[in-house]
Amino acid sequence: MDTSEVSAAIRSAIASSTVVRGVGSGTWLHGGPVVNDAAASVVRPRGGVIEYTPGDLVISVHAGTTLEELAATCAASGQMLAIAPYGSPHSTIGAVVATASAAPLAYEDLTIRDLVLGLTAVTGTGDVVRLGGKVVKNVAGFDLVRLNTGAFGTLGIITEVNVRLHAKPIMDHVVTGTLVDAPNAWVLRLVENRAPLPMLVRLAPGEPAQLFARCTGNDARASALRGIMQSYGARNAFTLGSSDTSNASEPESPVAMLRHVPEQALVLRARTRPSDGALLIDAARVAFPDAMLLFHPSRGSLRITTMHTDNADARIAGFVASAPPSMPFSVVVEQGASPIAPSSALDLSVKRTFDPHGILNRRRPESLDMAVV
Ligand SMILES: Cc1cc2nc3c(=O)[nH]c(=O)nc-3n(C[C@H](O)[C@H](O)[C@H](O)COP(=O)(O)OP(=O)(O)OC[C@H]3O[C@@H](n4cnc5c(N)ncnc54)[C@H](O)[C@@H]3O)c2cc1C
Repeated sequence: MDTSEVSAAIRSAIASSTVVRGVGSGTWLHGGPVVNDAAASVVRPRGGVIEYTPGDLVISVHAGTTLEELAATCAASGQMLAIAPYGSPHSTIGAVVATASAAPLAYEDLTIRDLVLGLTAVTGTGDVVRLGGKVVKNVAGFDLVRLNTGAFGTLGIITEVNVRLHAKPIMDHVVTGTLVDAPNAWVLRLVENRAPLPMLVRLAPGEPAQLFARCTGNDARASALRGIMQSYGARNAFTLGSSDTSNASEPESPVAMLRHVPEQALVLRARTRPSDGALLIDAARVAFPDAMLLFHPSRGSLRITTMHTDNADARIAGFVASAPPSMPFSVVVEQGASPIAPSSALDLSVKRTFDPHGILNRRRPESLDMAVV
């Protein structure tokens, strides 16, 4: 469907009081904080390139364009969309923007919020809104592009997206090292050193802790970054061999492997001050001893992936309660349970403004009545 067809579909849904859902490839309808309503009428924005000017490093596409298609189009000009989110390469750009999808080891630690310049959306009244533009500095007043980025289709169905591209680096390597020291000591060192490049620490039960770092640039920069990693290793009992470097875009690279998430898993994202990262990891290990943890040292964010169980809400409550009171932190459910914190009055009022008939995606009721700071 193009934008005018999406608008017509929403107007007829209002007339018949039908709930509608914006859908891309449909790979993550079970994820995030919204109701997965099987009875909703599906609205699927079309794919395809609208305009691509390689010299401006900007592409405008219909929201149903998949990341694979986008990558193939840009690769011909030596360019790329700088993030590859969790999940599948068949994900659509509209869904990636709608869910503000997280990505492991993203190039230069960029997020989709850094890359989306403008979008077109159809609100719950059927009105078409064109937000932002095609240049980096284009927002005055309220930033409605970023309001819709991560709103999970609750405020509008995204039909077109303008994103910023990057030149593909000549070298794009992931360096992998095994941490032979206690992981928490490592976390502190990485935080103290301000983790100078995109890094993740992976902690899985029964396995040695692993550090991944993405080294990109021309030959000189990438090998200088690799040198930094080697000197980290020499100083901090970190083993790094020549075979521990792989090309980030290869299917067997850690980036591709980390993107894979079991559909049945419970996935949480917790965040604290980077300097409290070790405390957060300890609390997660107690509450979720079987979980795979991915710690992002420069953000202080921790991704917790564990098997889903019927008592998921109680386990999350235990985790929240076990964190030291002196540690400010937030927890978001990415997949497999209800949202934790209730909607604020502001959230509800924004929802009523863009979707007065309540026909777009609705938020699931929260499971725990607790405010997490
Ligand atoms: C197994 C798995 C695990 C994942 N884990 C994570 C994770 O932990 N964190 C994370 O951020 N992402 C995660 N993703 C999401 C993924 O990164 C993609 O961003 C994406 O959301 C899936 O693309 P899709 O086209 O299949 O989306 P869909 O499954 O079609 O839609 C995903 C959500 O976006 C909404 N939506 C889709 N298109 C539009 C649109 N045009 N306008 C408005 N709303 C729309 C849908 O209603 C739905 O709620 C995961 C995906 C998979 C398959």
